[in-house]
Amino acid sequence: MITIKSASQIEKMRAAGALLHDVLQTLRAAVQPGVTTLELDRLAEKRIREAGAIPSFKGFEGFPFSICASVDDQVVHGFATKDRLREGQILSIDCGVILNGWQSDSALTVPVGHISPEAEKLIRDTEKCFWLGADQARAGNRLGDISHAVQAYAEAQGYGVIRDLCGHGIGEEMHEDPSIPNFGRPGRGVRLQPGMTLAIEPMICMGDWHVYLYDNDWTVATRDQSLCSHYEHTVLVTDGEPEVLSCPGANVREMAR
Ligand code: MG
Ligand code: MG
Repeated sequence: MITIKSASQIEKMRAAGALLHDVLQTLRAAVQPGVTTLELDRLAEKRIREAGAIPSFKGFEGFPFSICASVDDQVVHGFATKDRLREGQILSIDCGVILNGWQSDSALTVPVGHISPEAEKLIRDTEKCFWLGADQARAGNRLGDISHAVQAYAEAQGYGVIRDLCGHGIGEEMHEDPSIPNFGRPGRGVRLQPGMTLAIEPMICMGDWHVYLYDNDWTVATRDQSLCSHYEHTVLVTDGEPEVLSCPGANVREMAR
């Protein structure tokens, strides 16, 4: 069942999104060679709890950390470790918060020091995929319009689109209906309505999209070990412009251009 949020519920999701944005910007600024993802995890949890919120990932189905820290070929659900990040790696940080009972979910991929032009382009293009998808999150459009926009841009750049993981509705629960694949046909699927809140999250890799699961039963990585980038925001469908709740003030139409 897809829930339509009321104005007061949206206001709470807006506050959760603004907090999560701050947390992720803090983490982005902290990423550099020599830092460990465990340090980033602790920083995230501290910031979230200081704001009176709960790190939604920690303990979710037993996940042990407040962030997912996925390095290089890891797609999602990477574990924070004591390993020092190295120059040239890319790190995807996924994080979620619950503030006053309402959720927000967002991810970004950050370069560690100086990275290759190809890796830079992958990060940039994955973000572009998100904005193109978000630009389709308009009342009257269908879910497939979002999926198709992501896939079309990624594949035109020669990338693989991860199939095994999807975006999702979000609200009082982190994962609500509908499921939002990053591939699909335009004009198909659920018709979007004002008040729907969607976590749109392209996962794009340099090679083939097939993935495998680590022995820890969480971490997903590309089978061919190609680099993978992830970018996610919580988006509100409105009567007008889509509102990116976890990126306050963003102009979707501009970003998608
Ligand atoms: Mg996420
Ligand atoms: Mg998500």
